[in-house]
Amino acid sequence: MQPQRVSVKRIPYRDRRSFNPIEGVLDVEIVVCSQKIHGFDSYLFVSSGEEEVIFPAERLRELLGESRWNESVLRRYANEIQIGRRAFQSLLDPRAGGRAYIIPGSSVKGNVKARLQLTLQPYGGTAIACLYPARGLRAPPPKGSHGWRHYGVWKQSLQYDRGPPCNVTADRNVCVVCNLFGAPGLSSIIDFGTFYMRDGKLIQVGEGSEELFAAEPGSRFHGSISFRGLGLHELGLLLIGMGYWLSGERAEAIPVLLGSHKYKGLGERIMGRVVYRVNCLKTSTRCSGGGVGSGSRYEGAELENILAKALNAAYEEYRPYIRQVDEHREALRVMRAG
Ligand SMILES: [Zn+2]
Repeated sequence: MQPQRVSVKRIPYRDRRSFNPIEGVLDVEIVVCSQKIHGFDSYLFVSSGEEEVIFPAERLRELLGESRWNESVLRRYANEIQIGRRAFQSLLDPRAGGRAYIIPGSSVKGNVKARLQLTLQPYGGTAIACLYPARGLRAPPPKGSHGWRHYGVWKQSLQYDRGPPCNVTADRNVCVVCNLFGAPGLSSIIDFGTFYMRDGKLIQVGEGSEELFAAEPGSRFHGSISFRGLGLHELGLLLIGMGYWLSGERAEAIPVLLGSHKYKGLGERIMGRVVYRVNCLKTSTRCSGGGVGSGSRYEGAELENILAKALNAAYEEYRPYIRQVDEHREALRVMRAG
């Protein structure tokens, strides 16, 4: 079965420096699901495939001592910069001497952006978000092969071919998601900070080659997501990417999947179920016009009201495209069917 090719609606990207209509910071917790709050226990392991650049500072000092800074010195130095991998250490921040447990902001961003792209599904032959990997699959991946569970959960979205993803070096027009999160050649207007473990601990899970340290149920990671130039409906899109949806009139965050082993678990353990919880929204004093006050701090009922307003605004703008999926339930269904 050939995947249905759809065209992606793109517009010229916006000014990245503008702070209107809304500039602000979300104070966010990532909570690992626990029996007590969510009805089941989960564990979290986030490994980042990011590359780490190692700058040999000693060598730079030597070279600078030998000669004046010029292009040939720069070239010699550049040859000695190493690219290393730190995949296995990402929950354990090496910069903190192993004492701080973190989720890198880049992992959080990747998680939120991908969920939003998958949630914004093609409608009537058109998509408003690109999707990477861009090619629709020729057929559902056979059971047991790489990605078949992911496909099972997001089938409605992955059955389409959205063509190549946005790339500003080739085209100044971008989709609604890349306009916010950036794309090759385009900076993001939403910035994800590092999330630090606030409560909880790491415990050993898995066996043999699958043994690893994961955050225990109920662990909480705290960080912030800052943004500028977002409309209220775009704040709503960000929230949708974080797993918020409207339950009646209320904004509710449901469990979403993050990190490693999230589809098959580890032994008997469920892995990678978390809830993104927004605790506070602060807006800057210099922005105006987004339907929220400038220089304000929203918490509690006032915050809930704004989150619901933002989600409603997103639905009003993009309704036919938004198809929210309960990832946790769908993943369980796929697992049981498998
Ligand atoms: Zn895009």
